[in-house]
Amino acid sequence: MMRFMLRFFPWNTAVYALITLAPLFANSQSAPAPEIHGIVVAHLDGAVKPGDDFFHYANGDWIKHAEIPADRSYIGTWDTLEDLSRKRTAGLIEEAAKANAPAGSNSRKIADLYNSYMDEAGIEAKGVAPLRPQLDAIAAIGDQHDLARALGETLRADVDALNNTNFHTANLFGLWVAPGFNDSEHYAAYLMQGGLVMPDREYYLADSQSMREIRAKYQAHVSTLLKLAGFSDPELRAQHIIELEHAIAEKHLSLADEQDVKKANNPWKQADFAANAPGLDWAEYFRAAGLSSQASFIVWQPTAFTGESALVASTALDTWKDWLAFHLIDAYAGVLPKVFADESFGFFGKTLSGTPEQRPRWQRGVGVVDGLLGDAVGQIYAQRYFSPEAKAQAEAMVANLISAFRHRIEALAWMDPATKAEAQAKLTTLYVGIGYPETWRDYSAYEIKADDIFGNISRGRLFYYHRDVARLGLPVDRKEWTMEPQTVNAVNLPLQNALSFPAAILQPPFFDPQAPAAVNYGAIGAIIGHEISHTFDTEGSAFDSKGRVRDWWKPADLAHFNAATARLAAQYDTYKPFPDLALNGKQTLAENIADVAGISAAYDGYHASLAGKAAPPDKGFSGDQQFFIAFGQNWGSKEREAALREEVMTDSHSPDEFRAATVRNIDAWYAAFNVRLGEKLYLAPPDRVRIW
Ligand SMILES: [Zn+2]
Repeated sequence: MMRFMLRFFPWNTAVYALITLAPLFANSQSAPAPEIHGIVVAHLDGAVKPGDDFFHYANGDWIKHAEIPADRSYIGTWDTLEDLSRKRTAGLIEEAAKANAPAGSNSRKIADLYNSYMDEAGIEAKGVAPLRPQLDAIAAIGDQHDLARALGETLRADVDALNNTNFHTANLFGLWVAPGFNDSEHYAAYLMQGGLVMPDREYYLADSQSMREIRAKYQAHVSTLLKLAGFSDPELRAQHIIELEHAIAEKHLSLADEQDVKKANNPWKQADFAANAPGLDWAEYFRAAGLSSQASFIVWQPTAFTGESALVASTALDTWKDWLAFHLIDAYAGVLPKVFADESFGFFGKTLSGTPEQRPRWQRGVGVVDGLLGDAVGQIYAQRYFSPEAKAQAEAMVANLISAFRHRIEALAWMDPATKAEAQAKLTTLYVGIGYPETWRDYSAYEIKADDIFGNISRGRLFYYHRDVARLGLPVDRKEWTMEPQTVNAVNLPLQNALSFPAAILQPPFFDPQAPAAVNYGAIGAIIGHEISHTFDTEGSAFDSKGRVRDWWKPADLAHFNAATARLAAQYDTYKPFPDLALNGKQTLAENIADVAGISAAYDGYHASLAGKAAPPDKGFSGDQQFFIAFGQNWGSKEREAALREEVMTDSHSPDEFRAATVRNIDAWYAAFNVRLGEKLYLAPPDRVRIW
């Protein structure tokens, strides 16, 4: 459950987000940042005491002057690198377009995919014709058997519970192919709940003013898209679709419950589905999904499968047909004529994220290429922008961080020796990918046409689905990546016991070979430590050194860990970004643990790197002060209210402000800034949560 940053969308939802929501793309006109190595003193707010509000101390002056561009819901440190990565990627796409590469080559695919997205005249001329065959097929559904087939045909590999953490699919269910919980040497089929277009069940069920307003706008959105696609009685159809989605939402598990791996390991034989979840014609569903020969599945949320399957039988066939049609139109609205794309942005961009303007089309086009041909671009990107020297330096930092964790685990008084031995074994078998993967995805089976963006996206989703289904039962590649080199992020892959740090995050301000060690450790070091910590956290404790699901902790270890982490959850429960909305300490617990552990290990790694020498001051700040300020500046950001509310409700990460505030759990921070009793972030020593 391991994405590090808050704005990550895996490839499948990336496409969805970038063409449908489109608020993720940066403004290309931002001025190049001046060459600054080390902490940025100009961003500090000297009027704020570090002990009162560390986030605003480290970033306050920048926050005062920063403006969120109209086409974004968020601006922050991460964007600087995302902008850079996007510009470079755009440059690579442009080169590919000029190269006139042979048909079938990756360069040609990149160029054709991008051009097909940019072909607005062609898209307008086609209207809704690309959807017509599928809309006709939906209209022809005559009974439950047909319905099961149509639902099965929509199944895609568009969810990911533990790597890129995406629990959302608008299809009835989602497939995730990953190492098996009960056989980590082979790929298994995980099935996950779905069926909602809005991001989470809370959007349908929460009884708050802001959610009621969103629901009213959603109803208008559904009805408008149906009307644009030529449906009669769009208002009535929209009402029925939303009633169905509301009923589905009632069957869904909450995000906090979904993240509990122990509740997710529910192996069902294919023959069990009819008995465990009556309603849907499962044999036909699996046949249509190309999964007839798959004997067993792991069902992540069994109660949702039972509930949703019952709804298939109990809800009017016509409502399901409208639901299928609307979901189809909605999923492709971004590549339909402008009226569809604008309507889609109006709801997902403006209403859900609070973003006033859509990103320029070329930026969204870059996102589509990144989403569907990420490795083809990434291979060129890594070669051009990530030097062997940078790779070697980053690998040395990783080695220091792992060593810091080894010492911390060895020093734990409460952990049983056998548990410690398995924790050390996990560190030994941990595979850390730096910059780029050792092998690249093969796109030869993915057909791309220069004048068919709808088909390119549709075939792309199917290509990934077929690729994943084809490897069910095959041996696991533990060195595989789930993220592209040009992505500004980092990830922990618990079932592979592996981490990936893409080239795009290993750049200033996170990682700068010319910056003081204090700053590199406070910035990227804390991020590396965060990812390593996931190896041992609430979920990592469920996977052993071979990636198997096994309780390798002794009950007494777990009791201590749960007590310590419950205090951390309680600490985050007290944070209230809005008077009517507090953080959910349980929903964000694993990420908050990783933040505390990450900065702790990074601090050790930093001091180890000094090798006994005094830390050199820089810009008037001691080594430790620079370390903590660099950490605080990782999180410098501003966000629109709607987006922040969505994040609080649906994200497993805490908002940036509270991530920065976790320094209050670290003793060395009190000494570095002379933080005293009475200051707002002050915690008495016994109240500071120390996990490792
Ligand atoms: Zn994380």
